[in-house]
Amino acid sequence: MSYLAKNYNRKKIAFKYGKGSYLYSTDGKKYLDLISGIAVNSLGHAHPKLVKTIRDQSKKLWHVSNAFQIPEGEKLAKKLCQKTFADYVIFQNSGAEATEASIKVARRYFYSIGKPNKTRILCIKNSFHGRTLATIFASGSKKMTEGFGYVGGFDHFIFGDHKSLKKKITKNTAAIMVETVLGEGGIKVIPDWCLKELRKLCDKKKILLILDEVQCGIGRSGNFFAFEKSKVKPDIVPIAKGIGGGFPIGAVLMNKKVASGMTPGTHGSTFGGNPLAMAVGNTVMDIVSTKKFLNNVKKSSKYFFSKLNKLKEKYPSIIKEVRGTGLLIGIQLHTDQTKFIKKLMDNKLLAIRAAENVVRILPPLNIKIKEIDLALKIINKVCSKIK
Ligand SMILES: *Cc1c(COP(=O)(O)O)cnc(C)c1O
Repeated sequence: MSYLAKNYNRKKIAFKYGKGSYLYSTDGKKYLDLISGIAVNSLGHAHPKLVKTIRDQSKKLWHVSNAFQIPEGEKLAKKLCQKTFADYVIFQNSGAEATEASIKVARRYFYSIGKPNKTRILCIKNSFHGRTLATIFASGSKKMTEGFGYVGGFDHFIFGDHKSLKKKITKNTAAIMVETVLGEGGIKVIPDWCLKELRKLCDKKKILLILDEVQCGIGRSGNFFAFEKSKVKPDIVPIAKGIGGGFPIGAVLMNKKVASGMTPGTHGSTFGGNPLAMAVGNTVMDIVSTKKFLNNVKKSSKYFFSKLNKLKEKYPSIIKEVRGTGLLIGIQLHTDQTKFIKKLMDNKLLAIRAAENVVRILPPLNIKIKEIDLALKIINKVCSKIK
């Protein structure tokens, strides 16, 4: 029997170790891992540079309180700011903490400029921002909030319904918070022109734009951030998943304007930004933020998408759409995807579900072309066996 509470419906597979894009199960099987711990293992498993970083740093210093200077964190914050729109960073330990802290930053900014009633956050209905009490109510999903009381302060609009979006902005709205690419919600990309309109709307209404890049950020899209190619500059961006490459790290990136509200004592985290986590974050950052690395993600993405679209043409009664960006890929099926994913797993390919019948594919960002070919071969095989 398991002493773990039953809040997960776990597959009956356990892994002994991983290497690159592969996971090796306790019963001796080798799986191609296109889940990457849900966009977390951005450099695959047991990347030598990450192993070395952990080993070296663990001998020096794991943890000190944020009451002290932490040079490793200073270094990572500097890199994040120099590569992006951001002027300041707050480190956390997870995505939900980062999105929740983003909400705090937005509210605190308006409080600090004498507008304490501007607290409401406008989000997309059935999006995903994490599992804390506040962030489940930000997601506005009945399934996630049912039985958990009520946390107010969030309004919702339907994805793509621009009229209702404009109508939902009130004098008490502080920010619009959306995922640049809806991950759990079914790999739905917000088009660049929409991001631009969102920015314009926020400027016009004097509210803040929060782009949740917890899943789609850190090189996953082929750019460091998924919003970059739209040329839009958000005010606040929560990140997590990919930045630690498997080590729990979250962060809120923000511009100077909103950072002004975050005075001493307004926010904190015991673990957030500790030297061990920051050492790992620095190594991940040094690898994934280079032009060469990102260009390679774009190349792998282009290859994967073109081949998947061929499979869509070959099996139009199975595959409805191939969508996403970079190596954040959704294969939308015409019917429920559960059995399809099970068959992929039976053929040693790991993929995970997302909403709207989507089979979600999140390879390590350094996946090799021959590994993509293997994945395509397995997907083709599974499709060919469905009548
Ligand atoms: C995963 C995710 C989160 C929550 O991250 P956790 O680390 O699980 O708390 C928040 N926002 C988005 C877009 C995510 O995909």
